[in-house]
Amino acid sequence: MTRIGIVGAGAAAAAAAYAIERRVEDAIAEITVLEKSGGVCGRAATRRRDEVTYDYGANYVKDDDERVTELLTERLGTDGLVDIVEPIWTFDSDGAVSEGRDADEHKWTYEDGLSGIATRLFAHTDATIRFETRVETIRRDESAEVWRLEDADGDRWGPFDAILVTPPAPQTASLLRAAEWDAANRSALVNAVDAVPYRTIWTGVFHYPFELERPYYALVNTDKAHEIGWIAREECKPGHVPDGESLVIVQANHGWSVDHFDDDPSTNLEHLARLTAELLDDERLLEPDWTDYQGWRYALPEAGVDRDPIRGAASAGLYCLGDWVAGEGRLHAALRNGLETGERVAETVP
Ligand SMILES: Cc1cc2nc3c(=O)[nH]c(=O)nc-3n(C[C@H](O)[C@H](O)[C@H](O)COP(=O)(O)OP(=O)(O)OC[C@H]3O[C@@H](n4cnc5c(N)ncnc54)[C@H](O)[C@@H]3O)c2cc1C
Repeated sequence: MTRIGIVGAGAAAAAAAYAIERRVEDAIAEITVLEKSGGVCGRAATRRRDEVTYDYGANYVKDDDERVTELLTERLGTDGLVDIVEPIWTFDSDGAVSEGRDADEHKWTYEDGLSGIATRLFAHTDATIRFETRVETIRRDESAEVWRLEDADGDRWGPFDAILVTPPAPQTASLLRAAEWDAANRSALVNAVDAVPYRTIWTGVFHYPFELERPYYALVNTDKAHEIGWIAREECKPGHVPDGESLVIVQANHGWSVDHFDDDPSTNLEHLARLTAELLDDERLLEPDWTDYQGWRYALPEAGVDRDPIRGAASAGLYCLGDWVAGEGRLHAALRNGLETGERVAETVP
């Protein structure tokens, strides 16, 4: 029996667990996933309130990778998979809205939200997932050639023959820095992981008890000089918003998000609602009937990691994976990297 521990239950982790169990019989590999939050799919995050479902992290997954497209449209079944057909338009720093620039042929999510990707992947596995379990220490037991994990409550997990570490690079770097693991190349690994730059996004969520008539699903700021980077309408996703209501997701740009990350959320929401009302030229948007928000300090990696130290760690049974290892802050890239890493891990199972 090969014991595999996975830190995090995001899209890359779910794809890796799925790939391992497709290649290896359940009786031969046992997978334990430790996730710090209360749900799966990490930054591809979904919440529900009343009858409304909204994706407040990643907005959708696009068809930019053949393997991921096959996974979503064939292997996982298409039950609940929905395509956003309305286009993406643009706006500039002066607030001028223009048609065009929708390069994404398919923009998929699920009726029950984008986090449904990880739910569906894990449902194809026998992996045990422990929620509200934040891994704090990684330990290597060199004599037994196994890994052990310790969580924030002091509970210990393992032994594991291999561990898969999936948090965003800065959080993975902290774990690796604090790891009890004597390896000559550990500092090179920590430095490489720590060097991955990230974009921060502060997201505001605004619900309205009326419909917003617009010809587009979303607006993206192309000159990157507006305080808002992205505005999207969840009602364009079938099954997300009841008729007669609207839900607007507003993502602030990096500079504004960093400057206001720890400010009073209600002040931030008020500011973003005002900018949105101006952009969409609709004063009703100043008064949502409810709001929500999320600060994503490590929203999007802006470059990939140096792969050499990552490969070196894998030879000792510590695999790093996720969008930052793929080198692209996109859900399809995280899924692809998860599938490939899972297959590499499966190859080591005797
Ligand atoms: C605001 C925003 C908008 C985005 N928009 C899009 C989009 O429209 N399209 C697109 O393709 N991509 C988008 N992305 C990017 C996409 O969400 C990510 O590329 C993808 O979800 C990364 O998946 P992952 O599995 O690599 O990492 P994550 O989703 O970050 O998964 C890592 C998991 O590890 C857990 N974790 C962290 N630390 C620990 C610990 N110590 N112990 C246990 N668990 C831990 C986390 O809770 C998380 O569940 C967006 C991201 C954000 C934040």
